[in-house]
Amino acid sequence: MKYNWSIIGHENQLNKLEKDIETGNLAHSYLMAGPNSVGKYTVAKKLAGILQCENNFCHKCPTCIQIRKGSHIDTMEFKDDKKSIGIADVKSIIERLHMTPQAPYKVLLIQSVERMTIEAANSFLKTLEEPPPGTIILLTTNNLRDVLTTIVSRVRTITFGVMSVNYLSAKIRELYPDSDDDQIRKACLFSLGKTGKAVQLIRKPEALSEHIKAYHDIQGFVNHNNTVDRFAYVNEIIEDPKKIELFYNLLSQILRSRMLEEKSYEVQKKYIKTLSKIADAGMLSKGNVNLRLFLENLILSL
Ligand SMILES: [Zn+2]
Repeated sequence: MKYNWSIIGHENQLNKLEKDIETGNLAHSYLMAGPNSVGKYTVAKKLAGILQCENNFCHKCPTCIQIRKGSHIDTMEFKDDKKSIGIADVKSIIERLHMTPQAPYKVLLIQSVERMTIEAANSFLKTLEEPPPGTIILLTTNNLRDVLTTIVSRVRTITFGVMSVNYLSAKIRELYPDSDDDQIRKACLFSLGKTGKAVQLIRKPEALSEHIKAYHDIQGFVNHNNTVDRFAYVNEIIEDPKKIELFYNLLSQILRSRMLEEKSYEVQKKYIKTLSKIADAGMLSKGNVNLRLFLENLILSL
């Protein structure tokens, strides 16, 4: 590859972007779509660096450093802060895009673009289709289905996926040669092939230990039918959405691997039923379902 992306994997996607740059075929607006923590926003940010740095994306010049820190004047970032993006936000974005850039481009990055309200998105469509000259808009989403079709139809979409655990382990080992092999293997397994997540677990050993502990706890429930322990566990995680998400992820992982080993069709069907309950959990949490009741039912059905 021509540019020093310093990104694990996603060679096809990066090649496509490089080709767009080389052939002068850059789109006004890109949408990077794929599961969370696979590196979409990182790719968008590196692309901003490649466009803005006048020294072949050197990672060293003031421009590169400012972009990395998020303080570059012509590279606007809207990271996902779990708040919706309203019409007033879009108005101020458009205003800023119309200011004359000092850098080669005006780059606008919006993480989780599905946060935009319908009114805000409508007022943004014209800019998305025809931004001021020299503007590149980079959007990301964890769920393409949540993005309004009026947005999707005006952008060039690049999709990202997860990596195999073996591939990811090898790449992480290259990046962190001092890390323990077993830690790397576990981080990659728990990350479910998501680069960002694996790197996060390697960098934060306490987070990895928390994963390992939760994994053993959940495996314990599945193996031993102890109602008191199960209710106690629901109590322990109920107030913390991150712990609940971890519970869903690890439980799915455990059930999936058991299902593959299971010979009895009846038992397999039970696993599938529980897995689809967990898959629905994300959607349920947005509604008014009683979360405690849902978790207790789920954990008792194991
Ligand atoms: Zn530079």
